[in-house]
Amino acid sequence: MTWIEKDRKYIWHPFTQMKTAGPPILIKRASGALIYDEHDNPIIDAVSSWWVNVHGHAHPYIANKIHQQLLTLEHVIFAGFTHPPAIELGERLLSYLPHLSKIFFSDNGSTAVEVGLKMALQYHYNLGREKTTIIAFENAYHGDTFGAMSVGGDDGFNDPFKKLMFDIKRIPTPVPGKESECLSKLDSILEQEDVCCIIFEPLVQGAGGMVMYPPGVLDEIIRKCKEKDVVCIADEVMTGFYRTGKMFAQNHLAETPDITCMSKGLTGGTLPLSLTCCTQKIYDAFLSDDKSKTFFHGHSFTGNPIGCAASLASLDLFEQENTLDNIKRVIESHEKFRKEIEDHPKLENVRQQGTIIAMDFKTSSPTSYFNNIRDRLYDYFMDKNILLRPLGNVVYIMPPYCITDKQLEKVYQAILNALNEID
Ligand SMILES: *Cc1c(COP(=O)(O)O)cnc(C)c1O
Repeated sequence: MTWIEKDRKYIWHPFTQMKTAGPPILIKRASGALIYDEHDNPIIDAVSSWWVNVHGHAHPYIANKIHQQLLTLEHVIFAGFTHPPAIELGERLLSYLPHLSKIFFSDNGSTAVEVGLKMALQYHYNLGREKTTIIAFENAYHGDTFGAMSVGGDDGFNDPFKKLMFDIKRIPTPVPGKESECLSKLDSILEQEDVCCIIFEPLVQGAGGMVMYPPGVLDEIIRKCKEKDVVCIADEVMTGFYRTGKMFAQNHLAETPDITCMSKGLTGGTLPLSLTCCTQKIYDAFLSDDKSKTFFHGHSFTGNPIGCAASLASLDLFEQENTLDNIKRVIESHEKFRKEIEDHPKLENVRQQGTIIAMDFKTSSPTSYFNNIRDRLYDYFMDKNILLRPLGNVVYIMPPYCITDKQLEKVYQAILNALNEID
């Protein structure tokens, strides 16, 4: 049997209708912004392999640090034990978020969100308060576990589980023109309910279609919430690690969230690891002689040293000047492309936040992930050896920062050609 035949036989792929999906592409190796198929054709990874890769694939510096760590300490139980890579990661990461004091480990974005929600709920519980209402944005995506699904938008993916998901209050995403609607809905919820927390993707809603909104209105939301001791949870799983042009999207804000979740770019895109970081105030509510106030949460691989070593290596690379130069170069390049296509008759809502550029392809059918223009666009780009995964009719580019000008140009050109050739 070929690899692909064996794949058919043994593997169930994520977010994939296995009946109708074509055969997957076998990837044998990768380097920089390129992944190579079995015939060694290079494919430009313009979505950073589901938004995780930041420094390029198979980066030798990160690989070497992982190798060294594997030979030193691969894993150890993290309750009652600790190790230097975890401690150093806490110290270095929190220096980018000086308003936060503690890091708590888990393994992926969804569990980082679960931890954030549980921290917020137990924070109030430990203080003897009955505050359980959770607020989230419409159209949000926070992951695929039950808590994360519950705070996600009502997008049709989770219908089979809906009955068992918990109730939350949703407010409109404060995109330009919707600010006052969002704020007044928030006001009325804050007035009527004992609100525990609010969770949001700061500045860019990723899976919901790269929906962007400015920092000013989020500052106002956070201010209103903090007045009522509503815990503000920033889900930076996608926006972290310079996607928005700064280390974290919240670095664009004047206000400071109480809890921050991060994962995707954390290990440079090499290993699954996530963090939920919180303020001293939240942490303090769990300190007690009463054992029932403990945060009883943990995963087998909590604080995995290899993941920590990869994250530290990724931070090393961010702290080198040429990475920041690359980020600036990608941002400027996107800006130029954005101006070029802004008024294209077949595009709407061309938008950019830092290294992410997105645009809506105009269609006659209603917009959704299930929109089949999505499949035609995906196939069109793949045919040109470019990996772009449109979200419905939303085409976006979110590249590893090491992508070359020439590779970026090829992606832009493919989008321009698609505009002429696909409707
Ligand atoms: C991807 C994502 C998640 C879920 O992360 P996983 O690692 O896929 O579980 C949560 N929140 C946001 C904003 C994301 O983009």
